[in-house]
Amino acid sequence: EALKERLESVFNTLKGKGKLSEEDVNAALREVRRALLEADVDYKVVKSLVDSIRGRCIGQEVLDSITPGQQVVAIVYEELVSLMGEDVVPFIISSKPPTLCMMVGLQGSGKTTSAVKIAKRIQNAHNPLVVACDLRRPAAIEQLKVLAQQSKVAFYGPSGGTQDVIKVAKEALAYAEDHLNDVIIFDTAGRLHVDEDLMEELSRLKDLVNPHEILLVVDAMTGQEAVKVATSFHEKLSLTGVVLSKLDGDARGGAALAIRATTQVPIKFAGVGEGIDAIELFDAKRMAQRIIGMGDVMGLAEKVQQVTSQEDVAKITKSLKKDKLTMEDLLLQFEQIEKLGPLDKVIDMLPGMGKMKELKNAELDPKRLKQSKAIIQSMTLEERRNPQIIKGSRRRRIAEGSGTTVQMVNQLLKQYDQMKQLWKYMGKGKKGFRLPKGLF
Ligand code: GDP
Repeated sequence: EALKERLESVFNTLKGKGKLSEEDVNAALREVRRALLEADVDYKVVKSLVDSIRGRCIGQEVLDSITPGQQVVAIVYEELVSLMGEDVVPFIISSKPPTLCMMVGLQGSGKTTSAVKIAKRIQNAHNPLVVACDLRRPAAIEQLKVLAQQSKVAFYGPSGGTQDVIKVAKEALAYAEDHLNDVIIFDTAGRLHVDEDLMEELSRLKDLVNPHEILLVVDAMTGQEAVKVATSFHEKLSLTGVVLSKLDGDARGGAALAIRATTQVPIKFAGVGEGIDAIELFDAKRMAQRIIGMGDVMGLAEKVQQVTSQEDVAKITKSLKKDKLTMEDLLLQFEQIEKLGPLDKVIDMLPGMGKMKELKNAELDPKRLKQSKAIIQSMTLEERRNPQIIKGSRRRRIAEGSGTTVQMVNQLLKQYDQMKQLWKYMGKGKKGFRLPKGLF
């Protein structure tokens, strides 16, 4: 809520001011930057994020029914979500069983707990086995065994005091074959810090097992440190996913953002408690909300989109109602269509247009749209309002100015004539017109 309030105060005087200026946006982004840093997001990530947000904000039209602060927050939210990856990346289940998974991470990160949590989660559809490969600490083997027993998950661990991880892993594979375990999850050794010795052991295990998944468990509470840990593990082992544990605590979770941004490794699960069921598929939207640290940003983003659409649709509808169609109207249409996305969606939003099948099937070629816009933008105001004055030399000038050809200018002018006809039809509510081909 704090971020929202700060943004609101920055933008308080902005309402009805047209477009967001660079100054306004910079003032807002100072607050955004502070909020992200407070949420543990790495400063480099913050910088590149803020830059791309700035690009999107400047020049945005200020909407009437939403405050500019809310608009910026919605953009920040969308960028965060896209940075973390909108789609859930699932746990890999190999089409050729058994599926092999190594859990890696520092001591205390929640590795053992997460191994059992994941096994439990897939137990309805599979027959998982958890394997104790953290042989340095006898207590670690015992811990996995107890957790597995409590959760009724199959467990394999060495009986004697062996330190040979490779031997244990081989035995576990044979055990799994006998017991028809189709998913094998190896709980590996942890250390307090990343060290060569540990990486060496994990690499050897990786070479033997050739796992489908190598999941790094990181403690969300460790903030920036988690990013460093993820980077070193990824360098040595090529991770396939991350489990962000202890998100039930106070951590704002900026680590998630930075891990994804710096390593590109998807975050697959979120640990949300000590209980064995306390694991969830990672949800970028929820995480973005948490990082921004305010209430219903998701709803806000949707609202902004909706309002943008409504205000744009209102503009198009207004221009549709005019008797005379000018090139300026056409430009406005092109811009709105570009902004609103697929033509059929736009048409659905226009009152009374939904039935016009012809329009719905029109193809929207973004390149074509851009060229058409450039052509109109190269016209003088007078030419835009009275396109009939555009003859030979003007056509050449416009083509040159827009980086197109005279032929394309001719085509657009022809289409404009056709559009004028269309306008007359639509104004009178007639049906059965034909849409000029290749307009968009
Ligand atoms: P390991 O050393 O990496 O195997 O870590 P453990 O699995 O032993 O976990 C260390 C501690 O963190 C234990 O007390 C767990 O109960 C606790 N823990 C693990 N995951 C979570 C989580 O998502 N939330 C909370 N609150 N505690 C967790």
